[in-house]
Amino acid sequence: MTISDKTDLFGLFAYEIAELITPFGLKPYRGKQIAEWLYKHNVHQFDAMTNLSKEQRSRLAENFAITEVTLKAKQHSADGQTSKFLLAFSDDMAVETVLMRHSYGNSVCVSTQVGCAMGCAFCASTLTGLVRNLTGGEILAQVLYITELLKLQDQKVDSIVIMGSGEPLANYDNVLRFIRLVHEAYSLNLGYRNITLSTSGLVMAMDKLAAEGLPITLSISLHAPNNVLRSRLMPVNNRYPLEQVLAAGNRYAEATGRRITYEYTLIAGVNDQPVHAKELAAILKGRLANVNLIPINPVPERGLLRPELSEINRFEQILKKEHINVTVRREMGADIAAACGQLRHKVCQSDG
Ligand code: SAH
Repeated sequence: MTISDKTDLFGLFAYEIAELITPFGLKPYRGKQIAEWLYKHNVHQFDAMTNLSKEQRSRLAENFAITEVTLKAKQHSADGQTSKFLLAFSDDMAVETVLMRHSYGNSVCVSTQVGCAMGCAFCASTLTGLVRNLTGGEILAQVLYITELLKLQDQKVDSIVIMGSGEPLANYDNVLRFIRLVHEAYSLNLGYRNITLSTSGLVMAMDKLAAEGLPITLSISLHAPNNVLRSRLMPVNNRYPLEQVLAAGNRYAEATGRRITYEYTLIAGVNDQPVHAKELAAILKGRLANVNLIPINPVPERGLLRPELSEINRFEQILKKEHINVTVRREMGADIAAACGQLRHKVCQSDG
């Protein structure tokens, strides 16, 4: 990406930076030093890169740029555990990034696209369609923004969930660049096992991801135990029906040894009845799988409501009785519109 005529270094690997700077008289090892300034120290001015000579710094500034994100809006949940940030990039496009403070560490939920093309019936991210893909650097910038905030409290980002706005596997190359960049020693050095990617079930890309050999956790958004209901909630099911998605989940689990998480958003009167729980248990039986039940964050535009607590518990108990590993997502940030795309939708609605 370029800003005016300058090449942006943010989002590049150290070896790529090295290739770009050597024609300007800098040694290749400087690539890693610059990457450390960008990704470890969050420095966005060449002038502050003090292990380079003044002359080198000004030559870099003449020829290269470093993009930054700017904060457009933020919300904190009443319990202080969840904070949501609307972050804007150089073209003023904005996405949501969420910080969740769990007892086991700090988790960041990143967005991978501005808007989304998948058209799921219950999701606010897709209300105005896909605007554009984010670059690897733009996804990483969200994590680094939160890292800087946490540094002030002597804390760090412990895990990343790729579960914000967008379908990550529809932006495959940029998302993979992000995953590899955040793992680099000159960046956050985050273990692949601390990264979870959530997909609506793009089967071909799931197989491609399994072949990368990265031990990241795969979450699959199921939301229905049969094709009729799933197609109603998730149009992608017409392209990749349930049985193909489950088969790809099995292949991913076999290839990586990692248990799949199946996400199931509970919607009152739609997919939360005992018959659905039994059907779900039947299709998941014998698979290396966890089920994560997510009581829906109501999207008023769609008229979809959250089940009563007793219905949620009943659904959970049926799965347990059938020996399915199940957890109910702890209420986090429902009071701050933490569901995908809800803050952006609210803030950006007036922009059209
Ligand atoms: N596109 C990817 C990742 C982004 S959505 C995917 O579909 O998995 C992350 C998760 O939030 C998905 O399981 C999605 O179905 C769920 N989700 C979206 N809107 C929601 C809402 N209003 N309430 C609860 N969960 C929601």
